[in-house]
Amino acid sequence: MTTGRARLMIPGPVDVDGDVLAAMAEPVHPHYGGDWLAIYDEAVEHLKQVFGTRNDLYLMAGPGSAALNAALGSLLRTGDKVLVVQNGFFGDRLASMARAFGLEVRQVTAPLGQPVEPSAVRRALSAGADVQAVAVVHLETSTAVLNPVQGIAAAARDFEVPVIVDAVSSMGGVPLPVDEWGIDICVTVPNKCLASPAGVAPVSISQRAWDQMRRKPDRGHGWYLNLETWKEFATKWGSWHPTPTTLPTNVICALLVSLRRIMEEGLEIRYQHHLHAAQSVRTGLRRMGFEMFTPDAYASPLLTAVRGIPGLDVEDLRRYLLEERQVMVSGGLSELRGKVFRVAHIGKAASQEYVDQFLAGVEAYLKLRGRDLPSISDGG
Ligand SMILES: *Cc1c(COP(=O)(O)O)cnc(C)c1O
Repeated sequence: MTTGRARLMIPGPVDVDGDVLAAMAEPVHPHYGGDWLAIYDEAVEHLKQVFGTRNDLYLMAGPGSAALNAALGSLLRTGDKVLVVQNGFFGDRLASMARAFGLEVRQVTAPLGQPVEPSAVRRALSAGADVQAVAVVHLETSTAVLNPVQGIAAAARDFEVPVIVDAVSSMGGVPLPVDEWGIDICVTVPNKCLASPAGVAPVSISQRAWDQMRRKPDRGHGWYLNLETWKEFATKWGSWHPTPTTLPTNVICALLVSLRRIMEEGLEIRYQHHLHAAQSVRTGLRRMGFEMFTPDAYASPLLTAVRGIPGLDVEDLRRYLLEERQVMVSGGLSELRGKVFRVAHIGKAASQEYVDQFLAGVEAYLKLRGRDLPSISDGG
């Protein structure tokens, strides 16, 4: 498959605006010194607003997985128990990361396409689980389910267990007030809802999380991915060189351009925009006979997972959209491969232009293959 100039309607990376891209081509800043600090600090301040937090927040070079690794490895020692919410590919990924540190994983699961309820987490915690952290994905990108993180965090707080949230695909796209909901470590990336290129992972850390780390020194989980290393540099070298290592400074300059735009636009308006796009996409698809994989009640406004219909080859539809219509959407992950496709409507992909191009492409495909399809007018 070639992507050419296709419009990205996948759940990351996302298309970015020209002025954000242009920042990538500016002369390179070193990752220290006064000029750099002005840029870094402004980016961090905007991110704290997006996160709704007054906690420490760092920009860790790497993908979201780097910061998720750091969260698990910093908060927990080999042999510790962690309760992982698992209802899809990315929840399973968190469990794999935890096992790679020698952590003992306790699971709370739900069938694919359904959220894990806070009551299930509460039951797991009250059954004497003796866990030292709860880890949960906010938007489970494999199924479009938005897990009820507010209730899950409240349950964890009642048991005084810190909560790690993978908000890689949701932060900046839907409300996720970190302090109000009592989230201890929260991770995202620029290249999904923050509408800029990949390369750093913003991560916030609460005082409760720092306290747990201080009580449990010598975790033996390395230096770069140890959040305490990041704290040490932010504290000791904060006025000159706020991070332990070199940063992709152009990536952060681009992120800053996007963050300024997001703050100017207003977070609420952005959230509304995504809701509206989700409605257009789902209404349009239902009109053509498709059923959504995820019930609307749990579905994130950022991403729609769509069931294939009998006689329709989901992968052929994706190929057509990409090659003939210049729209890239995602397929199903793992066991959902060939059974669903996923269309993201975040940032630019939430615009009427993108949504219309996508829906027109699907309609054209159905007409093209119409003979092989059951009568779609009977469909729901
Ligand atoms: C995309 C995604 C990831 C992976 O992020 P990387 O930056 O590739 O490490 C993790 N979790 C969720 C929920 C995602 O959507």
